[in-house]
Amino acid sequence: MTVVVAPAPLRLYDNYTRGLREFAPLGPGNSVGLYTCGPTVYDYQHIGNYRTFLFEDLLKRVLQWNGHRVRHVMNITDVGHLTSDADTGEDKMEKGARRTGRSAWDIAALYTEAFLEDLRRLNILPPDVLPRATDHSPQQIAFIADLERDGYTYRTADGIYFDTSRQADYGYLARLDKSGLEAGKRVDLGDKRSATDFALWKFSPAGSTRQMEWDSPWGKGFPGWHIECSAMAQQYLGDYFDIHCGGEDHIPVHHTNEIAQTEARVGTRLANFWMHGYFLLANDAKMAKSAGEFLRVGALIERGYDPLAFRFLCLTGHYRTQLNFTWDALDAAATGLARMRTGFHALRDDAAAYPDDALVARFGAQINDDLNAPRALALAWEALRGELPDPVKRATLARFDDVFGLGLAQWQPAEQAIPPDVSALAEARASARRNRDWAEADRLRAQLHSAGWEMEDGPDGYSLKRRS
Ligand code: AMP
Ligand code: ZN
Repeated sequence: MTVVVAPAPLRLYDNYTRGLREFAPLGPGNSVGLYTCGPTVYDYQHIGNYRTFLFEDLLKRVLQWNGHRVRHVMNITDVGHLTSDADTGEDKMEKGARRTGRSAWDIAALYTEAFLEDLRRLNILPPDVLPRATDHSPQQIAFIADLERDGYTYRTADGIYFDTSRQADYGYLARLDKSGLEAGKRVDLGDKRSATDFALWKFSPAGSTRQMEWDSPWGKGFPGWHIECSAMAQQYLGDYFDIHCGGEDHIPVHHTNEIAQTEARVGTRLANFWMHGYFLLANDAKMAKSAGEFLRVGALIERGYDPLAFRFLCLTGHYRTQLNFTWDALDAAATGLARMRTGFHALRDDAAAYPDDALVARFGAQINDDLNAPRALALAWEALRGELPDPVKRATLARFDDVFGLGLAQWQPAEQAIPPDVSALAEARASARRNRDWAEADRLRAQLHSAGWEMEDGPDGYSLKRRS
């Protein structure tokens, strides 16, 4: 008899309300709109960035596990992300172009491709829509024009700015203390009226031509980073959709400003849930592309790591806690992944087997408790070491792996070099079996075991593999 266990409800931490809330899709038919802020393609992404993208992939897989059909939009920021959050810095793309001696358009294409390659290496499910900011200047301009019409903007010498004094609840997501910010400000405001006001459109500097610029009702220039996301999210997911994500650094500025713009234009806070991945630190410090060793996925591969060991490492920490990256931690994750792979691989397969209902229900309860991957991983070890028949264990772990994304079923052990003394033992045992000398065959098998090898007999002979 199959015991049907009611699935635990999915509860997610929403940073807007600062609490766990039960998730229910806004629209009909279990469809869920998910917007995740994508990479700024002025350089390679570092593994810190990928911790956030892996958290978002975990969220997406958990939504799918719960039967939702996810429409995932991730933008590519290829213009307008300034080196300073205060709107005074330089466009990272133009700076990247200077650094590499190539055009801004070239490096955008190069680093977008590198990013997509890294997504594949990390087994991150590809987004359904990957809009580029540079392909959406009409939408951004129309958005700003609406804000201007409704009195939310003002002009300075270098651009069109959003007037945050127009919104009583500006900064609610970050619980910003606006008056405290104003009083304590030491930032160079330029022509800005308030420290929290931000650029919607920046003018191309007089007398110079930017590589990326567009005509607009306010003159030649380029969009601010925040307006890109508001405009593209609205274009592909509508005025109010289910979940918006990014890294924790987005809470006080980028997402705060996305909400301000969309509230001003359509009166919604853009998304029902606001979720943020906490940072990956390098030796307990902020990870930066400029400081010390630049930790890219490629750098892990060069050192002989499987990128999925990094995925495994990220699963060992809850997404709402910071995680410190060390090579020792990555070594431990690589060992964990290798054990899980070999353990899974050693399980006898039977296509007719089903996952164990009770374990699947417990797993569902862990991941539906705000994506508790560390506890879900612990359950996978419990399943692997438990007493269930091999094919049930295998089917259960394969079901878990829909969420982990470790590719357990696809993994194949590398060709194993068999030492000559082990082959000699195996040959001797095969010959003992042919002679029906079972006692000798068993003795040789035990000897193989203590040498760390398993011998499996099949209709066409035998095979040897390392014991897990
Ligand atoms: P960027 O390319 O700078 O726009 O960043 C891409 C994503 O990575 C954003 O969601 C950031 O919030 C996130 N991010 C940046 N640094 C880290 C870090 N050290 N750990 C985790 N996420 C990060
Ligand atoms: Zn964004």
